[in-house]
Amino acid sequence: MWFKDFCDRLLSLESTSKRLEMIDILSALFSKTVKEEVNPIVNFVQEQLLPPFYDVQLGIADRMAEKSIALAYQKSQKKIEEEYSKLGDMGEVAEKECTSKEGNDLSVKEVYDRLLQIARISGEGSVDQKITQLAEILKACSPTEAKFLMRFIMGKLRLGVGEATIMEALSKAKTGNREFKKKIERAFNLCSDLGYVSDVLYSKGKEGIENFNISAMKPIRPALAERASSSEEIISRMGKCAIDQKLDGFRAQVHKNGQEIKVFSRNLENITHFMPEVVNEIKKMKYDSFILDSEALTYDENTGVLYPFQITIQRKRKHNIEEVSQDLPLRLFVFDIMFLNGNSMIDLPYSERRKEIDHLFSDTDTIAKTKMIVTDDPNKIDKFFDSALESGLEGIVAKRLESVYSAGARNFNWIKMKRSYKSKLNDTIDLVILGYFKGRGHRANFGIGAVLGGVYDPESDTFKTLTKVGSGFSEEQFKELYKLLNDIKVDSKPARVDSILQPDVWTVPKYVITVKADEITRSPTHTAGMKDGIGYALRFPRAMTFIRQDKKAEDSNTVKDIIEMYKQQKSVKVKS
Ligand code: ATP
Repeated sequence: MWFKDFCDRLLSLESTSKRLEMIDILSALFSKTVKEEVNPIVNFVQEQLLPPFYDVQLGIADRMAEKSIALAYQKSQKKIEEEYSKLGDMGEVAEKECTSKEGNDLSVKEVYDRLLQIARISGEGSVDQKITQLAEILKACSPTEAKFLMRFIMGKLRLGVGEATIMEALSKAKTGNREFKKKIERAFNLCSDLGYVSDVLYSKGKEGIENFNISAMKPIRPALAERASSSEEIISRMGKCAIDQKLDGFRAQVHKNGQEIKVFSRNLENITHFMPEVVNEIKKMKYDSFILDSEALTYDENTGVLYPFQITIQRKRKHNIEEVSQDLPLRLFVFDIMFLNGNSMIDLPYSERRKEIDHLFSDTDTIAKTKMIVTDDPNKIDKFFDSALESGLEGIVAKRLESVYSAGARNFNWIKMKRSYKSKLNDTIDLVILGYFKGRGHRANFGIGAVLGGVYDPESDTFKTLTKVGSGFSEEQFKELYKLLNDIKVDSKPARVDSILQPDVWTVPKYVITVKADEITRSPTHTAGMKDGIGYALRFPRAMTFIRQDKKAEDSNTVKDIIEMYKQQKSVKVKS
């Protein structure tokens, strides 16, 4: 496919605000796509060169982009800088300055491969090489191609197309209806690489997707937990079940393949370099290949006491990791296994997977198994829960003994019960920022008075509004937020956002914050859970964290979570 034709489709995508139209445009695009180019096209539409866990970045910032445009079109860099500060969109700058009317017949695959090459340039002189190679591509572009190319490079394509929308469009293009999306989704959940999955779909057909399997070094999308507020509720849903400690660190999915070890975060980023001591320990294990699910926490070496999340997360921010690991050692608490010696384990019952973990290793300071009991007695659960809290843990996770590992899904195979659920809405809520309202009074100095917060609705692949959040941020955070949000602002409501309120500035749904609120109430103002004109909203929300680096927009709480929390809030008797 010519890059020009692909850009024309991007123009149509950009101009629609309806998800169903997006699916039609994409499925028409995928129908015209051949197997060699489907992986690049799916990645382009996802606004990435490759999924984050490949660690491949273009590494082209504003100044470099300006230099490339200047070089390609023989303009002074000063002029390009001025244009950019006037237009605020590197794509528009390139479109305006582009000297060729028609371009030079670039194919999508060629552009993609050349960008990959640029991303792989490293070492001395790499900045100049990147600038020159990008200028070469720009020279061969038409104005529209130059616009989309530069927007892509700057991470500002802003098509707003979600994974679910792409999967539906792929299903429609290859099978004529949306039914096959479920199978595509299953494959995606097993490798987190939609470009690769579409490649398999195009080269091996439906059968390739139906037989798709896990492989080491490609992260599995993590299983997630539903919530319950009493041990009776757990037993009534699960009967006899496993009760695991719930530790409050960060999720770590460990992959071993021979001597190669990789660790992925909840967000599926490669975090191997944060944990050298874990890598050493895993290398020693006798099994050739496996994938483990675990929670990583730092601890006090002298007392053995586990540190809270806020301290553990500091490890991720430090650069001198070898030194930090002396002061802030890390322990991995393993609670699941998804792959062993070349075989997928995810369809085995949890009770059997757990036995395999016991066979795999003996606990050390660096890697241990979570403590677990099996019971059908609510009193025993309460005792386990209380002792977990006494040891400073967050609570428990109950696991259905016969359950499969539900990659990428939140369901009642896992049920979490935290200290906070015992009282009226004390649980935190993860919101995605959808836009902001300008500040008034002294808030005018920060540029932002409140952000519009929403939750995800996986069924419609849209974001629904739940609340405005104007408190909990420090002055510094407001200022930083203003900068970050302006960087992702869009002219009108993004296609996947469903809102009655109209913020002063709309943004791409990207950043997640954690908030606490007094209560969930019913409201006609917000679209989360809206039925017959009444939705849900938060009362007195305040931000508990700044932006959560470990979560993306779709990892915010869901509409279903909010309805569930609302019901629990009503059924829980507040202790006096
Ligand atoms: P939370 O903020 O409650 O951790 P979350 O949205 O990050 O919520 P959930 O699915 O709601 O994720 O809760 C499960 C999380 O709890 C997992 O992502 C994992 O990081 C953590 N966890 C800690 N201990 C366990 C355990 N024994 N089994 C499963 N998950 C655990």
